[in-house]
Amino acid sequence: ALLALTACGSGRDGGSSGSDSGGSKGFAANSLIGVALPAKTSENWVLAGDLFTNGLKEAGFQPNVQYAGASTTVADQQAQITSMVTKGAKVIVIGATDAAQLSTQVAAAHQAGVKVIAYDRLILNTPDVDYYVAFDNFKVGQLQGQALLDGMKAKKPNGPYNIELFSGSPDDNNSKVFFDGAMSVLKPEIDKGNVVVASGQKDIKQTAIQGWKAEGAQARMDQLLTSTYGNKELDGVLSPNDTLARAILTSVKGAGKPIPVVSGQDSEVESVKSIVAGEQYMTINKDTRTLVKQTIDMVKALQAGNAPQVNDTTTYNNGAKVVDTFLLPPVAVTKANAAEAYANDPKLAPLTK
Ligand code: BGC
Repeated sequence: ALLALTACGSGRDGGSSGSDSGGSKGFAANSLIGVALPAKTSENWVLAGDLFTNGLKEAGFQPNVQYAGASTTVADQQAQITSMVTKGAKVIVIGATDAAQLSTQVAAAHQAGVKVIAYDRLILNTPDVDYYVAFDNFKVGQLQGQALLDGMKAKKPNGPYNIELFSGSPDDNNSKVFFDGAMSVLKPEIDKGNVVVASGQKDIKQTAIQGWKAEGAQARMDQLLTSTYGNKELDGVLSPNDTLARAILTSVKGAGKPIPVVSGQDSEVESVKSIVAGEQYMTINKDTRTLVKQTIDMVKALQAGNAPQVNDTTTYNNGAKVVDTFLLPPVAVTKANAAEAYANDPKLAPLTK
């Protein structure tokens, strides 16, 4: 039931304009637009909520932005989507809490003529998703894996290097894509023996952190340090995002160990500070402002009765269909390029000075 990253074409024309499902009728300019976001597991979701509310208002729509609660995330989100359909939303933008648990709700949305846009996370096993908009998730993983190798090499020119692997929540389709991207870079080095996963825990089932919870990552790192690093050096840790990266660093510091090279993602304020201070090694810049703007552009196109712009019609097979996608490029950030990377981000730029 997981996403298949199809390497070859899907039999579509591969053109860059959207499918005919863009509709030709459009809808009223002041329509209700639903935005159902997951729990606030990282700063990007908090930012996205505000940006959607303001951006949709500015564009003349009536926004209805909802977050899933921290514990009953799936049921919350299902109820929120159902209620958006009932209230007459014309488009529902969804950042899924659980990729595989929304097929009933999006089917009902389609029945009512509502367009469905998957935001940042793909929705699986349903034909009832019209568009997907995200940063290139596989590329995110590749950048994390490459930075891990580069960072370790800069500290210690020759291997073998001991590393540990972490991945995100199993119910988030992105988790596997990030991990696969990173492993596409790391696996050749592991196969050569230049990089060693000293615990032996290389399977995504062993590395996953349920709910992207910091405490889960900290507990797993504590265990790994005890089981494996009594008298061994830990050179690097693949962390899929900043929240988990900081939890991993907290664990390592708590154990009194030297700081390893740790990857991240999201450019969270505390992680950018940590990078500038020389602790966390890298993060990924996925500017939420750009992703929200791209999504609102899709909504505007649908409103006008046009097909939204997409740039990938082959990669994201959700198990029921290949979803028309707009992918944005992620950027790897280390201390070396932080000032440049955040130059036009008023919140982050001052942290790099
Ligand atoms: C997002 C990441 C984020 C994670 C946890 C993922 O789906 O793509 O940017 O770190 O969710 O919130």
